[in-house]
Amino acid sequence: MILQVIVDISTNEIDRTFDYEGDDMPLGSRVAVEFGKNRLIGFVIGKTDKSEFANLKTAKYLDTPISSEQLELLYFMRAAYHLRYIDAIRLFVPAKLREERDPEYTRTYLRPDDSRTLDELVEAVGGRAKKQLDALKHIAAMGGQFLNFAVAQFGTSAISGLREKGILIDSKVHERTSPMKTLCKHDKTVVLTPAQASAVDKITKGSGVFLLHGVTGSGKTEVYERVIDNMLSEGKTAIMLVPEISLTPQMLGLFRARFGDTVAILHSGLNASERYDEWKRLKDGEAKIAIGARSAIFAPLENIGTIIIDEEHDSSYQSESNPRYDTKAVAKFRAHLSGASLVLGSATPDIETYANAVSGEYKLITLAERISRHKLPEMEIVDMTQEFRSGNRSIFSKSLIDAIGETLSRGEQAMLFLNRRGFSSFIRCKECGYIAKCEDCDVSLTYHKADNELKCHYCGRRYHALTKCPNCGSSEIKQGRIGTEKVVEELKSLFPDVRTLRMDNDTTTRRDSYFKILSSFGAGEADVLVGTQMIAKGHDFANVTLVGILEADAALYFSDYRSSERTFQLITQVAGRAGRAEKQGRVILQTYAPRHYVFQFGKSYDYTGFFKKEINTRLVTKFPPYTKIVRVLLTSLEEQDAVDSTRSAYKAMQALQKQYGSFVYLGAAKSPVTRMNGLIRYQILARIEPDIFGSVMPEIYAIADGNRPKKGNIFVEINPQSMI
Ligand code: ADP
Ligand code: ZN
Ligand code: ZN
Repeated sequence: MILQVIVDISTNEIDRTFDYEGDDMPLGSRVAVEFGKNRLIGFVIGKTDKSEFANLKTAKYLDTPISSEQLELLYFMRAAYHLRYIDAIRLFVPAKLREERDPEYTRTYLRPDDSRTLDELVEAVGGRAKKQLDALKHIAAMGGQFLNFAVAQFGTSAISGLREKGILIDSKVHERTSPMKTLCKHDKTVVLTPAQASAVDKITKGSGVFLLHGVTGSGKTEVYERVIDNMLSEGKTAIMLVPEISLTPQMLGLFRARFGDTVAILHSGLNASERYDEWKRLKDGEAKIAIGARSAIFAPLENIGTIIIDEEHDSSYQSESNPRYDTKAVAKFRAHLSGASLVLGSATPDIETYANAVSGEYKLITLAERISRHKLPEMEIVDMTQEFRSGNRSIFSKSLIDAIGETLSRGEQAMLFLNRRGFSSFIRCKECGYIAKCEDCDVSLTYHKADNELKCHYCGRRYHALTKCPNCGSSEIKQGRIGTEKVVEELKSLFPDVRTLRMDNDTTTRRDSYFKILSSFGAGEADVLVGTQMIAKGHDFANVTLVGILEADAALYFSDYRSSERTFQLITQVAGRAGRAEKQGRVILQTYAPRHYVFQFGKSYDYTGFFKKEINTRLVTKFPPYTKIVRVLLTSLEEQDAVDSTRSAYKAMQALQKQYGSFVYLGAAKSPVTRMNGLIRYQILARIEPDIFGSVMPEIYAIADGNRPKKGNIFVEINPQSMI
């Protein structure tokens, strides 16, 4: 039998099958092969009787980790995102399966020979072998030790001496480490509200895509859990995706408690063995529910009854580095493939998702009421231009200072949010709130220090840097941006005794430190937590009664067509942090644009009002969902190389534009971040009507393949979440 094998090397040149001899085996099998001078892992994706090559080498069968359904997913992702075979395959199999060594590997464990007493063993070693005696006594005291630890501690010769004399006996121990195994299952019985019961019923009996729209605390999680319960009792399996940042230990604990060992949890804190173990439990059918961040969509489950995506608006569902893919689109395909329902849940759905619900493509289920009698907190909007004009030069408004003071004196806690995304920075007039915007795109301009000019990241149009506000003439026109350190500093000067914690990308490069800061705040070790939107998600602190949003409009002027949407999502989410328990919460939102519709709708938590306004803006400006944005990003070590490739790719795109009538927009420019990791960056941007998108995309991928910079790379992104 001739096997067509994808080998485990990720380059464009090797992105095809290679022929090997081998036994007949299912597609999706894993094999060991000779490739050049190396022995590599490969995956069988095709079989034939004849090969055009002679003297084929033999592939050795290992196992079959990839199902036929996953293979279909592979072809879908290859077509939709132009992924290399191996990059997609690596999403399906844990890293442990990329080595030939048995992934169920065991470690050698040493035990003293238990047919003899310790004294007899000591005698057997003999008085002169001092090192051996030390080792024996130490290991005996612990009852045993792993071979590699023992060798590291006492040296190879001492340990092999003891093993040769039969004083230490080898045994094999399986290294299986299922995380959080200890939590046991318990049932909490809540009676569903009529709205929840009807949602559960519709989803369980229905098919297709559901949008579960419900304010925070409306009981969405309970709905997900019931739907999963129902699927399990029908003998089916389930996948639930949550943003990585919400995979808190508490949240995982709740799911463990509810579903016990039937749930496998995949998150970035697992090491390779733990990840393999969870994968294996799913593959073997021991676990029937996969919960995790976006990559859990590739879980090795069969007979899937439902796929749930919580916080479906979260930007982390789009993978922005290789392999690039959109989790929601993959989930939709997978759900369809296995006849499962897809549930998208959010308090503030993605505009595109909600538009699909309005058009009837998705089924809309609304949970309008909160479960508890507690209302969402009151939101107060403070006009910072007013504060500035009345002489307050602080980053805190008078209102917020007073509120912090009251909160501290009651012994309660506050959270202060700064809104920061990416690197870029908008220009704002402190007197009147004027923001410099692109005349063509209605997104804010970014100041580029190196060129001393303002640029639009969507069309590349350039403007002179401003020294005076064109609106009011003030020279207080500056980059609007403050950091968390600055906030803590000012807070301390106002309240010298305040205990603060700070969380942003600098303080939390690691997952552990992120949870450490949160749990220390939860334990009351600080009065105020200052952070970026990282602290907005899914953490409930009963003693938090005040939430301050310092730069509510910063995301608004980030040069991104999703700015308003993101801002609405953020303020709703942040507001949800205040007063989760018995105490009434309060939100103070500081902005330079108090009349912006996002705050007017945000203040009353009016998502549908916001949606109507926003979708109209998108229609007029021709942004998604009315177009698809395609970015072709080109990088190179050398400027000229990047320019050459950009030029020729751009030319080809122009020809394509002509052939298809017209794109809504096409342009080429330096990327907003002109250099990253030593590479020069250029980009070609296009906005394309949805109805021609399907036929245009393959051609754009072909153009990308044909115009790769010699000393760099080329990437194609669809509706990118960030444009740096
Ligand atoms: P969401 O996911 O929409 O933010 P949750 O599902 O977390 O909301 O529910 C909010 C709170 O209400 C949780 O503490 C949950 O245990 C509780 N809850 C949910 N449904 C019910 C119910 N039917 N009866 C009583 N309490 C409920
Ligand atoms: Zn523009
Ligand atoms: Zn002004």
